[in-house]
Amino acid sequence: MRKQIAAANWKMNLTLSEAGTLLDELLKTPYSLKENQEAIFAVPAPYIPLTIEKLSGNNNFFVAAQNCHQKTSGAYTGEVSATMFASMGVKHIVIGHSERREYFMESDALLAEKVDAVLTIGSTPIFCCGEPLAIREAGAQNDFVAEQLKSSLFHLSAEQLLNVVIAYEPIWAIGTGKTASSEQAQEIHAFIRTVLAAKYGQAIADQISILYGGSVKAANAVELFSQKDVDGGLVGGASLIATEFTAIIKALK
Ligand code: PEP
Repeated sequence: MRKQIAAANWKMNLTLSEAGTLLDELLKTPYSLKENQEAIFAVPAPYIPLTIEKLSGNNNFFVAAQNCHQKTSGAYTGEVSATMFASMGVKHIVIGHSERREYFMESDALLAEKVDAVLTIGSTPIFCCGEPLAIREAGAQNDFVAEQLKSSLFHLSAEQLLNVVIAYEPIWAIGTGKTASSEQAQEIHAFIRTVLAAKYGQAIADQISILYGGSVKAANAVELFSQKDVDGGLVGGASLIATEFTAIIKALK
């Protein structure tokens, strides 16, 4: 069953006590997520234990990591592996966020290794893709995104792909206040599904959740999520405001 997901990406924000307050605020609202709906919180790694504790008892609420190292263990000072996250109860890891690609030079090939590391231990990569503004202005976004998918995901078997969540995040819409219109989002999400279908078949492609990210907020979530191929959102700025993210979770279809 294709999942509908509201995923928060806190990035490198909040102190530990602010994180606790935000979660307390958010969890004041009663949620009754349907079987196919999930709320996922990609929090800074040190806040994972607190977040797990706060979310416990909330059905279909999960904590995620924002990145991991591609190796299982070893002499990689400062890094955290997917295996370590899994040992803490974290089953979702964001891979290939555009900020990781840009500031930490993460290549498609490296991201393929990270995807493998996450899948190997039975966790779920939330794999990010999306084009910069110049590519969108040149009308080349489809080819650009197709290449990202092919380079980092197409070595996977169909069975492995079923455990991947894709987040399409146009870079020009991340943290800029500019959101892709619901038509633009639907168009490229449908295209992504076509690319997956060409490689893995329509039945597999239809089961993959494709999230939209880029200035999602309470005011635009319902319209974005109502699109046929938009299965929820990966949310940065608005996920730091309890009322906003509550409304975004409630906007899931
Ligand atoms: C993100 O960080 O993935 C993101 C989409 O950020 P924002 O919602 O702030 O644009």
